[in-house]
Amino acid sequence: MAFSESDVPQFDTVFGRNLLAEAPDFVATPILVVTMDDLWPMFRDVLPDAKVYFVESMERARLEADLDVAADVRSIVGLGGGQAIDAAKYFAWRAGKPLFQFPTSLSVDAVFGHRAGVREDSLVRYVGWAVPESVYIDLDIIESAPRQLNLGGLGDVFCFITGVMDWRYATAKGKCEAKWPYDESLAAISLAKAQAALDAMDDIRALNDRGVAVMVDALRWGGASYHAAGWNPRHIEGVEHFIFYALEAGTGRKFLHGQAVCLGLVLGCMMHDQRADEMLAAVHSVGIDIRPEAMAISWDDVGRAMKTLRAFVREEKLAYGIAHDFEVTDAFLETARAKIEGAYGPWTQ
Ligand SMILES: [Zn+2]
Repeated sequence: MAFSESDVPQFDTVFGRNLLAEAPDFVATPILVVTMDDLWPMFRDVLPDAKVYFVESMERARLEADLDVAADVRSIVGLGGGQAIDAAKYFAWRAGKPLFQFPTSLSVDAVFGHRAGVREDSLVRYVGWAVPESVYIDLDIIESAPRQLNLGGLGDVFCFITGVMDWRYATAKGKCEAKWPYDESLAAISLAKAQAALDAMDDIRALNDRGVAVMVDALRWGGASYHAAGWNPRHIEGVEHFIFYALEAGTGRKFLHGQAVCLGLVLGCMMHDQRADEMLAAVHSVGIDIRPEAMAISWDDVGRAMKTLRAFVREEKLAYGIAHDFEVTDAFLETARAKIEGAYGPWTQ
């Protein structure tokens, strides 16, 4: 089938200012705000009467145990980045309450997806079904978020490019899943969204209204089309996220999502031998530092994760792609380091 963008239902999304302050006048009370304890001091005066739940863990068993918190409220407000937004979805789904989402940064695409990323024995699963009444992009809030968090959202946009590379690669090898045959119409929309971001780098670097709108448009496509294509992630992610997962598993550390995904993006493009210099230049120009040291790990950590990548994607049964076949050699890793340090300079701090 051929997809056109108008066939893909996307969440209602409203841009504006001072939107959260309006919530008590249109969100049925009592309201449960699902947020993070470090964010709440910035917002508590805006919603003084709300009941508040601080996300401490995305373990599904923990969320189930805390489900009572949503029992005596009439609406749920998600306020935060990925975790608060996902926990809000989970409670809205399980308690059957209307959901209003207020992302506090553009760090990930979670706010535009139906399912919540929860952990079951530390493994991430995407479960549930939550369609928000609306997503509110409150520009006052977005502008006050740390710049690196907002820019990190580009990881969940540029991954469309490497996702499509992997999809084409798997198809050429005859190893694409039968349920997700290559679809040029889907791939073309994803690539156009990523290109729109590449063409708007000045606005995105400035994080002005147009830059935010271009990023939101792409992130929205990611969440909506994952569902509309039959829970098919092929046109929106691939090797770049797999490298991020392997880095997390290998180092046991948590990363700023976009930063680690953008490192995966450049390495993944190198593995495909396509667009690596272009993507490195884009990521560098906008100010996302993908040097391992900027993530408090070393090149050795990256090397170890990359050398186990082939086994990792097979063990984890991730979608077939370049990572399943590519042999990461010392020469590859040296080239990658030279390329990245060529752009950013060596780490000196
Ligand atoms: Zn992501």
